[in-house]
Amino acid sequence: MPVYDAVVIGAGNGGMTAALTLAQAGKKVLLLERHNIPGGCATSFVRGRFEFEVALHQLSGMGSQERPGPLRAILGEMGVMDRLEFVEIENLYRVVFPGTFDITLPTNREGLVAELAKLFPGEGDAVSRFMDLVYRFSMEMVQGLFFHDPDISKEKYPVYFKYAFRNSQEVLDEFFESPLLKSILSVYWGYVGVPPSMLPFGDLAIMLWAYIEFKPYHLKGGSQAMSNAILDAYLAAGGEVRFNCAAKKIVVGGGAVKGVITEQGDRVETGCVVSNASTIHTYIDLIDREEVPAAELNAFKSHTIGPSAFTLYMGLDCEPADVGIHETTNFITTTVDADRAFDLWKTMEQQGWALLTCYDVSDPDFSPPGTCQAALVALQYGDPWYAVSPQEYADAKYRYAEGMLQLAERVFPKIRDHIEEVEAATPLTHLRYLGHPGGAIYGFEQYAKDSPYFLTNRSSIRGLYFAGAWVGSGGFQPTLTSGRSTARAVLKALKNQ
Ligand SMILES: Cc1cc2nc3c(=O)[nH]c(=O)nc-3n(C[C@H](O)[C@H](O)[C@H](O)COP(=O)(O)OP(=O)(O)OC[C@H]3O[C@@H](n4cnc5c(N)ncnc54)[C@H](O)[C@@H]3O)c2cc1C
Repeated sequence: MPVYDAVVIGAGNGGMTAALTLAQAGKKVLLLERHNIPGGCATSFVRGRFEFEVALHQLSGMGSQERPGPLRAILGEMGVMDRLEFVEIENLYRVVFPGTFDITLPTNREGLVAELAKLFPGEGDAVSRFMDLVYRFSMEMVQGLFFHDPDISKEKYPVYFKYAFRNSQEVLDEFFESPLLKSILSVYWGYVGVPPSMLPFGDLAIMLWAYIEFKPYHLKGGSQAMSNAILDAYLAAGGEVRFNCAAKKIVVGGGAVKGVITEQGDRVETGCVVSNASTIHTYIDLIDREEVPAAELNAFKSHTIGPSAFTLYMGLDCEPADVGIHETTNFITTTVDADRAFDLWKTMEQQGWALLTCYDVSDPDFSPPGTCQAALVALQYGDPWYAVSPQEYADAKYRYAEGMLQLAERVFPKIRDHIEEVEAATPLTHLRYLGHPGGAIYGFEQYAKDSPYFLTNRSSIRGLYFAGAWVGSGGFQPTLTSGRSTARAVLKALKNQ
């Protein structure tokens, strides 16, 4: 019977960086993935002559070679940087209120302040002061929290302590009059998944600061290239992987992990499991109920499952400029009422809010010559889709897709005529491919109560650990980082055994 130092369940970002870190530390590791490719969300799929990027819109934390960000450092430490080529996205984002307002913000602080001051002349000073706050807050957060200052205190980090948990709307209201201006500066709420009235200011500030300082990136070959590179490095380090092989059971006895049973019925001996699957799937489906500590189940009562996404993946038979696409990142919104838009995520009604990403603007080689691909995405909860019967599913999906396409047409009127391939993914699609409840793509809702402050990567079952969105923040940078820190905790525990 094979014996492993660790079995990692799930080859998403968190699972793969955990597996790679453990294998590179000389541990015998088995990675189990239920799908037939590595990456989880970080994958691609092919339709016709297009390889569609599933998830990545703007990669955070990369920075340039000269000014590396934390993610570049991590990928470098794991030895995968020389297998990858990153592409800087030209601007921070464009926000369009169709027929009303259109602005593109550059990816530098001075340019951003100048652009907003030009369009909101009465509020130029306020924009400048707001950005001062964003920077002061972020510097204190980096120094105090990320660098683990042992003397962290209110006196030493006053801005951090004052603003970390205030909601973004409150802070925006303090600075600005124009609802339009507030919407533009908080448009990233649509990435995080909670509206400004729920979004901790700390999250908004650190996102704006990080994307401005380290720039938004994409990469050649899309996120699948990164997943493949991490897997290759893992195999080179001696790691083993099985695809099309879900973990069916984590064997627990006496409060400790004893092994894993695969869906093929093989039993693998190990004292350590890192689960990249949701904590819900892990505790409810994979472990015998009597072995799950009541506290772990009780904790679920205070968590909320986060949103999934509805995406229209479009392969266009033309260059981006032919349909008027000149920016990679285009937020399209018909409302400044983010609370209302967020409420509609829980229904099958159109939200009047979407993000259109065209990768070929910053990377003209992304799609075959003379073509481009555009992903039109809006976050949405899984719940309304559970109520759709199998007979109604196709209609419901195409109706929703049609509504989103009509929204995109208000900004890019020729887009429909150029669609060569199109595929739609609903929250149920993500549920099917990831196995996460609600098809959630960021784990639990990214509201303060479900934030990393209240989640842990370590179970009270000895030898059981977690990596990925369900025990921290969702998104590429946080989940890639999460796998590294979970692996470090495992290595420490293995050393002490
Ligand atoms: C449409 C979309 C757009 C997004 N846009 C962005 C963006 O622009 N920027 C950004 O930073 N983030 C974005 N994200 C979010 C980001 O991709 C995810 O938060 C992140 O990739 C999740 O990583 P993870 O480590 O939690 O694992 P996941 O990607 O959730 O993968 C978990 C893996 O576990 C496997 N698994 C589950 N159960 C089992 C089992 N029993 N046995 C074996 N394997 C199992 C699954 O098959 C899966 O491969 C987006 C996601 C989507 C879907």
